[in-house]
Amino acid sequence: MKVGVLSVQGAFAEMAAHWRAQGAETFEIRQLSDLDRGMDLLALPGGESTVQGKLLKDLGLFDPLKAKIDGGLPVYATCAGLILLAEKIDDPGRRDDTRPEKWFGALPVAVRRNAYGRQLGSFTMRGDFDGKHDFPMTFIRAPAITDVLSPDVEVLSTFDGAPTAVRWRNITGFTWHPELNAMA
Ligand code: GLN
Repeated sequence: MKVGVLSVQGAFAEMAAHWRAQGAETFEIRQLSDLDRGMDLLALPGGESTVQGKLLKDLGLFDPLKAKIDGGLPVYATCAGLILLAEKIDDPGRRDDTRPEKWFGALPVAVRRNAYGRQLGSFTMRGDFDGKHDFPMTFIRAPAITDVLSPDVEVLSTFDGAPTAVRWRNITGFTWHPELNAMA
């Protein structure tokens, strides 16, 4: 299996290592020509979603990647990657005209960025994930999924009653970092 790892910013090295540890071949997506290599899965790593989104637009990667995501390419996204996919960015602190742009808008969930506090928002817990118990989940300045916008969204894990990992059609998205712990 060939995994294209978005590598413009953030924890792309960890994401690539995660997939290689499972026997996948990985390559970095940094510019438009990298998409010629073809992939079976697109991995969107953690980092800063605003920086990643802006770089995607500046590099001309945004529209071709959106077409692939909307076209059904399997996507595996964590944290900032999940924010890039969300259909709605829920940011109650902002006035309407400064609301953050939504990016791919491909996954029917609403997310709130930095939902657990900006500096102190990193923690690891253990819980149920996709039928597995006592599964380690590391949150780093994580977003919260504040709403699920389609009944077809499958919830794979929760924290305090809110979803923290979801699957919908071709997309699996995490607010935590599966690439930092055991195989997800
Ligand atoms: N706080 C980051 C954002 O808003 C996400 C953090 C992460 O990817 N670990 O984009």
